[in-house]
Amino acid sequence: MPKLPRIAAGNWKMHGLSADLAEARALAAAFPEPAVEVLLCPPATLIARMAVTLGGSGLRVGGQDCHASDAGAHTGDISAAMLADAGAAYVILGHSERRADHGETSAEVAAKVAAAWQAGLVAIVCLGETEDERAAGRTLDVVAAQLAQSLPEGATPANTVVAYEPVWAIGSGRTPTEDEIAEVHGFLREQSPDPEIRLLYGGSVKPDNADTVFAVPGVDGALVGGASLKASDFGAIVAALARA
Ligand code: PEP
Repeated sequence: MPKLPRIAAGNWKMHGLSADLAEARALAAAFPEPAVEVLLCPPATLIARMAVTLGGSGLRVGGQDCHASDAGAHTGDISAAMLADAGAAYVILGHSERRADHGETSAEVAAKVAAAWQAGLVAIVCLGETEDERAAGRTLDVVAAQLAQSLPEGATPANTVVAYEPVWAIGSGRTPTEDEIAEVHGFLREQSPDPEIRLLYGGSVKPDNADTVFAVPGVDGALVGGASLKASDFGAIVAALARA
């Protein structure tokens, strides 16, 4: 199988109103045929309109979470089938903010991943250690357990992407050293059910450190939060990935 393209995925989190679709439009205009896989994951309210906005460009849309069930009495939740119906091709699952804010366990993440696959979505599965876990020398144990427990049987390079996101690096402006990223990515590659599953780094990736991050062996792209909100910043990161 040919090697899959690298990925730049933007996580808008709980940011974005209709007017912000202009950023998606600007990004699509800058990369009408991106050399890498580029996607934006806006809040659920914008997914359908984002899909229309990006339609015809090579850029794709993703959700930020889904329920493990197809449909049912789950007020406020959204199913993977609904995301796909709205035009999403990917869904971020197990983000540390959901693990922390909503007490999501890896077992629950695994059930959501299975639902995502069922709906034809690519699951972007997030994992990463807290600052205390790193200080205690437990980083590799933590990510190994999260990887093993968050992926159901059947993960392939086509249906799954893994994002290593140290919790302490998210939104903090701090990043691990290149050696630290390389160590975790190398380890996850060994632990992965398939070595071709793409491994993204996430946590304070910005235009000014993107070249450095993408030069780390084993990094197949990035999951980007804050810097994905502005087309100029995310565009610079996409350009860095394309030339890496
Ligand atoms: C994220 O939320 O997945 C993330 C990486 O955020 P930031 O880039 O803002 O650190």
